[in-house]
Amino acid sequence: MIKIPLNKPTLLGREFQLIRDAIRRGQLSGDGYYSNRCADFLQKYLKGLHVLMTSSCTHALELAYLAAGLEPGDEVILPSFTFPSTANAFVLRGGVPRFVDIRRDTLNMDETLLSGARTRRTRAISPVHYAGVPCEMGAILAFAKSHRLCVVEDAAQALGASYRGQPAGSFGDFSAFSFHETKSCICGEGGCLAVRDPQSLERAEIIRQKGTNRQKFFRGEVDKYSWVDVGSSYLMSDLQAAYLYVQLQGLAGILRRRRQLYKRYAEAFRSDEDQGRLQLPVIPPHVEPGYHLFFIILPSEKERERIQEGLRRRGILSVIHYFPLHLSRMGRRFGYRPGDFPVTEELAPRLLRLPLYNAMTGPVQRRVITALKVLLSASARS
Ligand SMILES: *Cc1c(COP(=O)(O)O)cnc(C)c1O
Repeated sequence: MIKIPLNKPTLLGREFQLIRDAIRRGQLSGDGYYSNRCADFLQKYLKGLHVLMTSSCTHALELAYLAAGLEPGDEVILPSFTFPSTANAFVLRGGVPRFVDIRRDTLNMDETLLSGARTRRTRAISPVHYAGVPCEMGAILAFAKSHRLCVVEDAAQALGASYRGQPAGSFGDFSAFSFHETKSCICGEGGCLAVRDPQSLERAEIIRQKGTNRQKFFRGEVDKYSWVDVGSSYLMSDLQAAYLYVQLQGLAGILRRRRQLYKRYAEAFRSDEDQGRLQLPVIPPHVEPGYHLFFIILPSEKERERIQEGLRRRGILSVIHYFPLHLSRMGRRFGYRPGDFPVTEELAPRLLRLPLYNAMTGPVQRRVITALKVLLSASARS
């Protein structure tokens, strides 16, 4: 029986009021009053990049590859250590994943491996800011620029994070964020796409609106709208945007709370790290994370299983994260094999993600810390 979950959606309070207001305003579909407020907020946050609200981060990533005109056989470089959506977004378009291994410290894409992964079919790079810790964007952007590659940031976990003072998600040609209920700022299912250049933006607006120039019609730039390109429906409902707007307004407080919980975990387990019982996450000095999640790395897969089971017996949920994509059924279909990415394969089975959510109270976190410490010292005795 699980008493402490990994995550819990947290209500800030005004969500009901703003959803009621959205209903009163009478436009429940996409690009209504609250969608525009959210987009404006995010646009300011991302230093002026244009932002389109979407139904999910997965859809934002799909939209990015559609707008970029990715063609069958085009290759995209990405880490194997990520969520399937990072890959599906272009595999759906006939794109081919070129996985790379991760860095031991941040578990982010190892930027020194980019040049070995590039072929003449490479079109894009998709850095994933794991746990809200930004990738080495300086090196990644320089590489992309010198080979004219499109950069699609998977910033699903990186709201609030920055790299050398610039927000994660403000570096790529496209950047996708998630507001899924498991993320820091939420609205159930939701996301957004930030777009750099005006032509891609125009195309993305059309694709997101079922392949029509309805957006131009709404702005009064054309007198009727029609089918002008391929497209789908990737809009966020204004009811969800109303919920999200409350959360975005509370972003600073949400980040403060998550940072506090994160630091408390890190401090509590520092002595266990010194004794070699686990490894704590590494935050490079030039980045500020979004504190999306907290994980520990145990000395072996067996030890991780023992700790996870011990926590489960005490009613605490912890999970492993991620099953490497190159070892999955889909990954193998693309010709990948065990042994291809040693760091990913070594670390993924040893990683355990601990409960962390905005409404987690001090006493609840202390229960997790105490339970884990008892389990860790049991291993030291055996
Ligand atoms: C959560 C997540 C996604 C998917 O986000 P949705 O909004 O649920 O589609 C994609 N990539 C990463 C790295 C994620 O953490």
